[in-house]
Amino acid sequence: MDEVFEQRRYLIPFRSNLLPQIFTDTLVIGAGVAGMRAALTASEQGDVILLSKGDLKNTNTAWAQGGIAVVTAKTDTFESHIEDTLEAGAGLCEREVVRRVVEAAPGRMQELIDWGMMLDHDAAGQVMVGREGGHAAARILHAGGDATGREMQRCLTAKVRATQGIRLFENCFALDLITPSPVRGAPVMGAITHHPKFGLQMIWAKSTILASGGAGVLYRETTNPPLATADGLAMAYRAGATLADMSFIQFHPTTLYLAGASRALITEAVRGQGGHLLDDSGRRFMLEVHPLAELAPRDIVSRAIIRQIAKQGGQHVWLDCRHIGDFGEKFPEIASLLKRFDLNPAEDLIPVHPAAHYTVGGVRTDMDGRTDVPGLYAAGEVACTGLHGANRLASNSLLEGLVFGHAAAVASAEMLAAPPGMTRPQWSGGRAGNVSIISDIRPSDRGELDLSDVRSSLRSAMWKNVGIERTGAKLSGVIEMLDFWARYTLDKIFDEPQGWETQNLLFVGALVARSAMWREESRGCHDRTDFPGQRAEFDVHDCWRRGDSTARRVEKGEAWRAALV
Ligand SMILES: Cc1cc2nc3c(=O)[nH]c(=O)nc-3n(C[C@H](O)[C@H](O)[C@H](O)COP(=O)(O)OP(=O)(O)OC[C@H]3O[C@@H](n4cnc5c(N)ncnc54)[C@H](O)[C@@H]3O)c2cc1C
Repeated sequence: MDEVFEQRRYLIPFRSNLLPQIFTDTLVIGAGVAGMRAALTASEQGDVILLSKGDLKNTNTAWAQGGIAVVTAKTDTFESHIEDTLEAGAGLCEREVVRRVVEAAPGRMQELIDWGMMLDHDAAGQVMVGREGGHAAARILHAGGDATGREMQRCLTAKVRATQGIRLFENCFALDLITPSPVRGAPVMGAITHHPKFGLQMIWAKSTILASGGAGVLYRETTNPPLATADGLAMAYRAGATLADMSFIQFHPTTLYLAGASRALITEAVRGQGGHLLDDSGRRFMLEVHPLAELAPRDIVSRAIIRQIAKQGGQHVWLDCRHIGDFGEKFPEIASLLKRFDLNPAEDLIPVHPAAHYTVGGVRTDMDGRTDVPGLYAAGEVACTGLHGANRLASNSLLEGLVFGHAAAVASAEMLAAPPGMTRPQWSGGRAGNVSIISDIRPSDRGELDLSDVRSSLRSAMWKNVGIERTGAKLSGVIEMLDFWARYTLDKIFDEPQGWETQNLLFVGALVARSAMWREESRGCHDRTDFPGQRAEFDVHDCWRRGDSTARRVEKGEAWRAALV
């Protein structure tokens, strides 16, 4: 990485002993499915602080529509779900991780049902299962039609609120993970946070679980809520953790393309129910692209739409749902959204466009959510466990959050229960009271910056140059541009979240672009038009760590699973 990205260990200057101090056994950063699930397990062993930088209704989890993939039907098998996941991952999935997640799914799901999650049932009282692109069987459990995430978030929030020993801090922004020294390998001891009412605070924790979600806001077009600003990825890197497979960003083919509709997702299940994609002249162009037409894998549909839009010199293509009966009953959330814009799916064509949807890469972890920094665990979209490989199979991510949220908290509890000096670092036994951290950063003298302009320029540049179709020439141009912007943005000291988020986005955008430049092949959701097709020499994970000038190659299987050092 360019020097400019290596300089800052912390985003702001501070002296830990001058700030209010809070202590806990386990700090969980993020209150979506992964963080909530982690907090519930961690609370069985000690006290927990659970942070959410915004309100709980606007997590990616709460916005999830389609459902959660779990093998439940007698006609379905774990092997089939495993094979479908491996197929989507285009040769980069870790088979053992896939098996662990798929086999754990029914048990983790049953817990949610026991805690009160209301799944959709048919008239005979059986849990309904849907089918989505890439799945060989119907195995998608859903709630409220297309409101699965909202119901899951409601259920987990209620359980967390009813659990003693979990303190939920909402609107509390984690700026950085704290380590006793800036040297890579130093253990994480909690985080420095900011709350609008209480200001800066030190939260000292014996163990920290990062569950802060993805980086969709990096792109001008995204399905993600505004909180998805890559904070966890950036702070883990600054603390010395390895990030892996960052070039893989999944784009969703169909979001509502209307001014003011914030690129709301129109779930794949609509195409599963027979929705057709039409060009400007009303032609079903997907019939010529793939034998599965509109139900081809997401990356193929997204690419076809982008090419079609370029061909017709327009802004979007159309989704035709006029022949789908009972649209409002099947997709109540989408129907009510369309109504707000005066669109009736029984009569009107719906304008759609692809958008960034899911961050496949992330903080590298082992099978139990351990990162390569002592005391730091990661779960959910922020993590790269090897489950998704080069592309995520639909409805596998809520599942990953559930399974790894629990697993990371189990691993963290084991570490806390071990005698000091064995698997438990010495520091985690005490109250960290004698550790003092000083971050000295001199304020830049380069003057004011229009932050919203930096952010929107970055998002446009990412969409145009690191989007659905990439080339080496465009990537090298954008890397140079981002490095230039970074020089006068990363040397500033901000005092509110918009500034910190913009710095995190700029940093992670530069890393995604570098990873995309490094990977000279097309695989999964990473498409290099100058390198069509997969190449055997890139059948590896690319890993990025502070202080390294380029990617480290990590072989799949044993090497990936080996203890992280
Ligand atoms: C529109 C949409 C539809 C989707 N549909 C599906 C689907 O049907 N099935 C499926 O499996 N997946 C779906 N996904 C993907 C899935 O929802 C996410 O991958 C998953 O919910 C991520 O969960 P998470 O717990 O890792 O993060 P999130 O749910 O995104 O939660 C992140 C948490 O971290 C907190 N946070 C972030 N930064 C900070 C910070 N600096 N300080 C403090 N807190 C912070 C946030 O406030 C939030 O509480 C969908 C995603 C979207 C956007």
